[in-house]
Amino acid sequence: MNTFLSQKLGMSSTKRDINNSIRRHAELKASPILNISAHTNDTMKTKTSILLLTLFLVYSCEPLNEKTVDLNAQHWIHGSVNCEENTDLPIQVVRYNSNTWILRQSKCTNYEAPFLYLFIGNDKALLMDTGATEDEDIFPLYKTVKGIVDEWAQNNGPVELIVAHTHKHGDHYAADRQFAEKANTTIVGLEVEDVEAFFNLSNWPEQIVDFDLGNRSMKIIPIPGHQAASIAVYDTSTRFLLTGDTFYPGRLYVQDWDAFTKSIQRLAEFTENNEISYILGTILR
Ligand SMILES: [Zn+2]
Repeated sequence: MNTFLSQKLGMSSTKRDINNSIRRHAELKASPILNISAHTNDTMKTKTSILLLTLFLVYSCEPLNEKTVDLNAQHWIHGSVNCEENTDLPIQVVRYNSNTWILRQSKCTNYEAPFLYLFIGNDKALLMDTGATEDEDIFPLYKTVKGIVDEWAQNNGPVELIVAHTHKHGDHYAADRQFAEKANTTIVGLEVEDVEAFFNLSNWPEQIVDFDLGNRSMKIIPIPGHQAASIAVYDTSTRFLLTGDTFYPGRLYVQDWDAFTKSIQRLAEFTENNEISYILGTILR
């Protein structure tokens, strides 16, 4: 898996190399999720077998009480030819496991239709991104997230809601105002300085810090390039690596190529020391 990422991304890649490798990735699957077991040559198959055996051994040592959704088999709402006739809810809610949710905004509310992620620990809930629409009548994000968190709290005790962002682009923070001045809720600012201050990052972008939700450590990984304040989030519980708009099978925009190249290299290096179950993006184009 690690070699796969390193090869695909190119540890010392030029701009074109990265572009090509990402494009090849984009052709693998029309999905927001990169299935990193999609290797093709024999060497990679052998490595995959070793990896799967390792994962089996690791997971077989853990309590088998957690059901998860197969994200590669998940049907995601994807709009309609005629949105007048569309019957999708404005927000698709997929519960991945007992404390992890993936939300997708309907394409009939905004063409960007971003994916949002909610992780809950014993003390805090972390919502990554607030979507592309501010109006709660069209896009009732606060109501949806509050419903999930309240239900969790009934069974597990109260948690503080933290609203953070993969980066400062309008389709990832539009509904922030729905969360403003709500009880037990903190919204992380959108600038690099805000992200640094909230997560106690003192050496942006090289430093990776732990953010503890309460017996659930999230690793915050600065990845400027697509946008200056971009971060990736790694969940040590599900082993999700959320990369925002920086790396997914689709069209990518890069604001700063030098920063982007270094960020992708750091991400690839991160996977050498951390097991990844899914690499997740926020947009499917
Ligand atoms: Zn973006």
